Amino acid sequence: MLSGLKKLIGDKQDRKIKQYYKQVEKINSLEAEIEKLSNQELRDKTNYFKEQLANGKTIVDILPEAFAVVREASKRITGMRHFDVQLIGGMVLTEGSIAEMPTGEGKTLVASLPSYLRALEGKGVHVITVNEYLARRDRELIGQIHEFLGLTVGLNLPMMQPEQKKLSYEADITYGVGTEFGFDNLRDNMVYETKQRVQRPYHYAIIDEVDSVLIDEAKTPLIIAGKTGVSSELSYLCARVVKTFKEDEDFLFDLETKTTNLTDEGIVKIERGFDIDNLYDLEHQTLYHYVIQALRARVMFERDVDYIVKDGKILLIDMFTGRPMEGRTLSNGLHQAIEAKEGLHVTEENKTQAAITIQNYFRLYPVLSGMTGTAKTEEKEFQEIYGMQVVQIPTNKPRARVDSPDRVYDTAEHKYSAVAKRVKELHAEGRPVLIGTTSILQSEKVAAVLRAEELSFELLNAKTIEQEIQLISLAGQKGRITVATNMAGRGTDIMLGEGVAELGGLYVIGTERHESRRIDNQLKGRSGRQGDPGTTEFFISIEDDMIKRFASDDVEKFKKSMKTDDTGKILNKNIHEFVDRVQRICEGANFSIREYNLKLDDVLNVQRNTVYELRNKVLESDDLIPLLKSSIESYVKEEIHHCCPEDVDTSKWKIDRLQKNISEILPSGKIELRKDVLDKSELTDPIYEAVNAYLPLLDEYQDKPEIGEAIQRFLLSVVDYHWLRHIDAMDRLKEGVGLRSYSQEDPMRQYAREALELFTQMYFVLEMDISKQTASLVQALENRK
Ligand code: ADP
Repeated sequence: MLSGLKKLIGDKQDRKIKQYYKQVEKINSLEAEIEKLSNQELRDKTNYFKEQLANGKTIVDILPEAFAVVREASKRITGMRHFDVQLIGGMVLTEGSIAEMPTGEGKTLVASLPSYLRALEGKGVHVITVNEYLARRDRELIGQIHEFLGLTVGLNLPMMQPEQKKLSYEADITYGVGTEFGFDNLRDNMVYETKQRVQRPYHYAIIDEVDSVLIDEAKTPLIIAGKTGVSSELSYLCARVVKTFKEDEDFLFDLETKTTNLTDEGIVKIERGFDIDNLYDLEHQTLYHYVIQALRARVMFERDVDYIVKDGKILLIDMFTGRPMEGRTLSNGLHQAIEAKEGLHVTEENKTQAAITIQNYFRLYPVLSGMTGTAKTEEKEFQEIYGMQVVQIPTNKPRARVDSPDRVYDTAEHKYSAVAKRVKELHAEGRPVLIGTTSILQSEKVAAVLRAEELSFELLNAKTIEQEIQLISLAGQKGRITVATNMAGRGTDIMLGEGVAELGGLYVIGTERHESRRIDNQLKGRSGRQGDPGTTEFFISIEDDMIKRFASDDVEKFKKSMKTDDTGKILNKNIHEFVDRVQRICEGANFSIREYNLKLDDVLNVQRNTVYELRNKVLESDDLIPLLKSSIESYVKEEIHHCCPEDVDTSKWKIDRLQKNISEILPSGKIELRKDVLDKSELTDPIYEAVNAYLPLLDEYQDKPEIGEAIQRFLLSVVDYHWLRHIDAMDRLKEGVGLRSYSQEDPMRQYAREALELFTQMYFVLEMDISKQTASLVQALENRK
């Protein structure tokens, strides 16, 4: 069992694995003892461990025995005994790293170990899966082990009532989809009473398919939106106008970064069309917004690639699964712009009420861990953004899969002919073939060439998750041909049918390189599970999207020295190097986009934390008078500073405004200020006198619960109101960042600076509002006396 150990020398990763094997031996040595325990004795171990932790022992101290207990429980309940390498996976997860384990190695069972161990700390463990089906499945399968050991297990689903959710979150271990956990966080920050909150403070999470969750899906932030009126008329109009626009003349489109901009000519056309002078004028901000979104809808969103139209609705396509993303919409009027472009009914626009990126949500966990078959290629990103290490876990059985070198063709047509030919050959042998594609559109193309060869196949487009899982799980049966986008039915094992291993196992064909090697590896990983035989082969062409996008000039150069055989296959030896390089450029570009978006969100994140902290204080405190007082004091100081800046001549001071605003925050009504002041103290003295006479009045309301509640309610509504308006302003600001890149300043710095200005302004108005509403409240209460 430990024979592989001899090979492990030198390398850091290997040394680490060696350490883990020492622990494995310890766990194994406990097995004979633990096997003898009765079910009750085994269950009693849970309380015993909790006591140990209470007495100062650490997670690391109790790990070997706890893992041995889980393994024994699993043997009795599921009949599965954790392999040694699965124990190692469990250790890696415990310490907050990523365990890279190929498909079929049994990651589900691996998670049973750290989730048990860290649940013993009593602060809750979240196990994140990529879809609801898997959450239910894992909750059942692994949950029974934990329940047997006396822990509680919960499932968090989107449609649950808050009461139910609360129960799920109070469980020791909670299963669910990552986005739903994030949405609960947002909703918890919108409640009006602490008891409406469903989550507990974060402790530890395990993310299954961690690369999909933290990298691929992290492009779309989580947004809670409310409806607002939208002008469908204007949407249609703008769609019509930009339809006539020509690329490079009226607008620019950067294929690499997928961004678009109006040219001067385009702007002039719009100004003429709408009969206005200057599109950039503040009063045309709304029109400008609609135009930009219409343009984006036209050039950045391709039908049947980025979205499909179904029953008069736009359904966004998940680029990685090729599956429609139910319930996800684009924010900020972009969705409406696409509806207008397709001539559909324009739905109401969703206005952001709360938003967080996936990255910033998961960074809330003190310890985060994950598992996947493919993470090593993105190790740097995991380290930089989440501080997570990637550890490659040895496989349980040696790998027998053969990865053939890519076949690269001169045209897409030649490529597809070659695919069809190869499928036909393999099919004649009875070997099952899985053909992976990068989009629905491409699936259709593959389907067409297979049909032309009169081959029958399963096409996994627009199927439900259950159907996908069913069909994918059969993809290893003799004679089967399956066409699917790369991640269809992920998390599902493809077992080989009878006699298939003798034929060489599942044959996986890739029809295009994906945007990262990691996704290619996911597809390859469909074959050769648990030591099964299998083959993978990619058929690509220099007309493929990725190459067009990132290397169109180089391709032209390359063509001059290109040699092909009569099928169009490129014979030049350096073609593989070339393709690898293009893929690396593409990976780099995507990383930059994610990094950029995260930087943008980081700016908002600081603000969000400040506001949420304030909000929580309002929710949790039973005496809000000090908060009222400090808001009023801070506002008064700022208002004076604003109206009477030290470095401005006294004659320019805005004393009228000061008098009006200060009067409004005093329940007694008016304050009179002298207009001909020479010195600031002539203004500030009477103001502070009045304010200092007023503030102690507020103390009377202390210990009066009804008044306390009234204050709490108005504070929450004031905070929410200004925060929502601010989010909206930030959205607009973000929209402008790219557009203003012609100025000298680094757009990111400019964004950060303007964001801070907006936030300071928002905070000022917020405190002003609090001060004014407090005055009204006091007035009303005094009148009642
Ligand atoms: P992965 O997610 O790593 O691809 P799964 O968790 O789907 O793998 O497990 C693959 C298969 O291996 C499942 O059928 C599972 O029941 C089985 N399996 C996992 N671990 C063990 C084990 N220790 N003993 C026996 N079967 C196992």
